[in-house]
Amino acid sequence: MSKQGSKALILKFLLTNLGKVVTSKQLQKAAGGASEWARRVRELRDEQGYQILSHKDRADLKPGQYLLLTDKRRPVFAREISKETRAWVLERNGYTCQMCGAAAGDDDPFSPSRKIRLTLGHIIDKSKGGEDVPSNLRAVCTNCNEGLQNTAPPKPDRLHLFSQVRRARVDDQQELLAWLLRKFGLTAVKGPSD
Ligand SMILES: [Zn+2]
Repeated sequence: MSKQGSKALILKFLLTNLGKVVTSKQLQKAAGGASEWARRVRELRDEQGYQILSHKDRADLKPGQYLLLTDKRRPVFAREISKETRAWVLERNGYTCQMCGAAAGDDDPFSPSRKIRLTLGHIIDKSKGGEDVPSNLRAVCTNCNEGLQNTAPPKPDRLHLFSQVRRARVDDQQELLAWLLRKFGLTAVKGPSD
């Protein structure tokens, strides 16, 4: 059994038993008896981001018990890139999802009780050779990151954008101005009347 083959079998078994506690015996059996099954489980968790829980993560699991609660994968690079890089990229992107335009703290359209949360995504996907460097990272909301929004809406056309802004309420225009100034690191120029 190849390394990839036994890993795929383990993943298939875990996904079939989503939310159920499975044992190391079952995992080894699912892996076709491969003695390296534990290493494959670690690779699924550490390299592919599957959130496979063990007794180290949850007190109600015994040693030798494993649990996969969700097929959502954690972005693996999140643990590899520094806090500083993360903060820098989020700030550069104005704390706004670069795919759909949602801002951190906006109401989440997919789960109304929650707020938009931002994470980092790759501009060129890692599978296509993209690296974990600031120039290849961008802020994306968790919805876009999880593929809930398949296509990024087209960028608004400038004429349309301006007409929208001109028609907006003054307090919304001021809010927008404040946001743009923050985003570009500027401060408002006060006129002589202020
Ligand atoms: Zn988004």
